[in-house]
Amino acid sequence: MSEGYVDKAVELAAKYLASSSFAIALTGAGVSAESGIPTFRGKGGLWERYDPEEVATAEALRRNPELVWKLHVELMKIAFSARPNPAHAALAELEEVGVLKCVVTQNIDDLHRVAGSKCVVELHGNIKWVRCTSCTYRAKVKKPPEEVPPKCPVCGSLLRPDVVFFGEPLPESALRKAYDLCVKADVMLVVGTSAVVMPAGMLPHVVKEGGGRVIEVNLEPSAISPIADITILGKAGEVMPKIVAHVKKLLNR
Ligand code: NAD
Ligand code: ZN
Repeated sequence: MSEGYVDKAVELAAKYLASSSFAIALTGAGVSAESGIPTFRGKGGLWERYDPEEVATAEALRRNPELVWKLHVELMKIAFSARPNPAHAALAELEEVGVLKCVVTQNIDDLHRVAGSKCVVELHGNIKWVRCTSCTYRAKVKKPPEEVPPKCPVCGSLLRPDVVFFGEPLPESALRKAYDLCVKADVMLVVGTSAVVMPAGMLPHVVKEGGGRVIEVNLEPSAISPIADITILGKAGEVMPKIVAHVKKLLNR
């Protein structure tokens, strides 16, 4: 994508956002790539050593809780040490200036909240939380467990990371919230997601069907590029701050 084209697309995206009445964002692993968190489908150490479908399922947790926990301790370490990048900061700022109403994320790394976003809907859970496989115990942890697999402090049963494993349904309240936001949205910013993981990948379609606009920021074309009004190919950490700077200019902020 030529620089001139990107500049024009950034300006148009900012115009759509600045004149929107209910803008939301949908983010995926790509928004955290520049924070050093490997994406699923790109090259990255973690997913070359573990087959996610083998170690991130409820069945695997039953069969081999230690192995599943070892992977999740690695993910927890990455999430605890990662810092938000300019893309997370830009989305938080867009909310701060009143344009963005909420971020719906497929990420489990908590970085939108760390960056200051207030309204965050986590479709796939949060790696910094654990919950009991038997009782209702659920808690945010300050660091990864030292011994795996960890046990519930209330009932002694196996704890699990509070994330959605492969083959599991999404938390109903998060999905409902995301859907309601999409129905209301007149603009959706889609950032760093291949949009192939369902049902998250269908959310931009809900916005389009309601007459809203979809603005995509991704490294490469994705499953939603065909329905996007604007596709900007580039790094989220570079493109997002440019969009937000333009929005602020348009709003005289
Ligand atoms: P994905 O790995 O399928 O796709 C990543 C997308 O991000 C691609 O479209 C790619 O072009 C784009 N991308 C990569 N680097 C980018 C950058 N610097 N700037 C802009 N775009 C960039 O990711 P997905 O669609 O989120 O699906 C993966 C699933 O795995 C999700 O369900 C998520 O829960 C989980 N996951 C989460 C994390 C995390 O929490 N950070 C990391 C890996 C996987
Ligand atoms: Zn318990």
